Amino acid sequence: MSAAPGRPRQARTEGEGPPVSPIRLGCIADDFTGATDLANNLVRAGMRVVQTIGVPAGPLAADVDVVVVALKSRTIPATEAVAQSLEALAWLQAHGAQQIYFKYCSTFDSTAAGNIGPVTEALMDALDSDFTIATPAFPDNKRTVFKGYLFVGDVLLDESGMQNHPLTPMTDPNLVRVLQAQTKRKVGLIDHTVVARGANAVRGRIAELRADGVGIAIVDAVSNDDLLRLGPALAAMPLVTAGSGVAIGLPANFDIAPSLQASALPAPGRLQAVVSGSCSLATNRQVQDFIRTGRPTLAVDPMRIASGIDVAAEALAWAAPLLADGPVLIYSTADAGAVKSVQGRLGVEEAGALVERTIAAIARGLVQLGVRQLVVAGGETSGACVQALGVTQMQIGPQIDPGVPWCHAQAEAAGGAGVHIALKSGNFGADDFFTKAFGVLA
Ligand code: ADP
Repeated sequence: MSAAPGRPRQARTEGEGPPVSPIRLGCIADDFTGATDLANNLVRAGMRVVQTIGVPAGPLAADVDVVVVALKSRTIPATEAVAQSLEALAWLQAHGAQQIYFKYCSTFDSTAAGNIGPVTEALMDALDSDFTIATPAFPDNKRTVFKGYLFVGDVLLDESGMQNHPLTPMTDPNLVRVLQAQTKRKVGLIDHTVVARGANAVRGRIAELRADGVGIAIVDAVSNDDLLRLGPALAAMPLVTAGSGVAIGLPANFDIAPSLQASALPAPGRLQAVVSGSCSLATNRQVQDFIRTGRPTLAVDPMRIASGIDVAAEALAWAAPLLADGPVLIYSTADAGAVKSVQGRLGVEEAGALVERTIAAIARGLVQLGVRQLVVAGGETSGACVQALGVTQMQIGPQIDPGVPWCHAQAEAAGGAGVHIALKSGNFGADDFFTKAFGVLA
C-alpha cells in the first residue's frame, strides 16, 4: 500500500471545481445495483460515498471518502472485464485511493472463465500485491461462508436456485474450488475458528498461507461480528475482494465511525414521482400498496407501446397537472401471467426493451417537468433511467430499506440541477416502500 490509512488529508484542486480531498477507499463493482449495495453499507458505517456510472470522465461532484466505480463487467468476456477494472483502478489510484475493494455478488456469480478470478489476479498484479482475501459473506442478507462453503439462507449455494442462473449457474458451493478454477494463484482458506479468535489470529493465518504459497484466501464469516473482527486484519492489504458485507469492518481502519453526516444530502426539491418497470413480486405488492393510498397512478400497457402510440407523451401529459399536489406513480408492473402473455406476443427481449425505453423516457420527462424526488423500481429499468437522465455520478444518502438508499445526482435532464433518486431492484423494499421513501427525505 502506498500510504497508511488514516493519514492527514490534503486538499487538492481538481479542474475548475471546488477543492477535493483525496479519497481513502477506491471500489470497483462488477454491476450497477451491486455498487449501490456496497455504497449503502459504507455510508451506514460512516464513510461519505460517491458512486460513478463507469470510470468518471470529469471531476468528482462532492468531497468524499470513497468512490465506487460501477462497471457492468460480471458476465462480459474476462479480457474486457480485466481491461475495464484496470482502467477503474488507475483512476482510483490517481485520486488518492489507499486501498482497493473489488466488489462482486454475494452469490459469487461467475463462470469457470471468470470474471472474479481474472479480475482479482489482474488487480493484484497491478498493485504488486501477493495476497488478498475473497469472501462474498453478507450475513445481513443471509449469505454466510462456513468452512469455505457458501450458504444462501439455510441451503448451500447450489441448492439456492443459483444452480439454474441463466448466465452464471453456480453448481459448486465450495468457494475454494470455485475460485481455484478461475485463477493461477493458489487459493486457501481462513476458516471460522481463526476468524472467531480475532484480527491477530487472522494475521497469523495469513502469514502461514503466504509461506505456503497461497495468494488468495476465502474467508469464513457467519455474522457481522465475524466481519467486524476481520476488518482490522485487512488494514494493510492493498486489495480486498468481497461482496458488500466486508465493507462494514473497513471504515474503522481509516478512523471513521458511523455518523449521520455520512449520509447527508442537499435539501430536496419538492415534486415527487415513482416510475416502475419491475414485475417482481415485491414490486407488485408495492404498486398495489401505493394504489390503496389513493394517490394518482397510471398503468403503462406494453401492447399500446408496441402499436406505435406515444405512451410516454400520454403519461407525461397525464402527470403534469398532478405533480404539484404530491407524488404520482407510473408503472408497467404486472403479474407473471400478464408478463408472459405480453412476452408471448412481442418476444421477451423486445417486450423488455420497449418497456424500458418508455419508462426511461417518462423518467426523463418527469424530471424535465420539475420532479426532483424520483423513485425507480427495477434493476434494468434503473440502468435505463439513469442513462436517460444523463446521470454519471450519485452521492449516496440515507437508507430507505436494506440495500436501497436515496442518492443525489446532477442530471443533464434537469439542466444540470440536482435530483434525488432512489433505485430499487426487484425484490428489495417493504410493501409501503414508495410512500416510505418520500417520508425518509421529508
Ligand atoms: P427487476 O429488478 O424486478 O428484475 P428489471 O427492471 O430488472 O426489474 O426487469 C424487468 C423487465 O421487465 C424490464 O426489462 C422491463 O422492461 C420488463 N417489463 C416491465 N413491465 C413489463 C410488462 N408489463 N410486460 C413485459 N415486460 C415488462
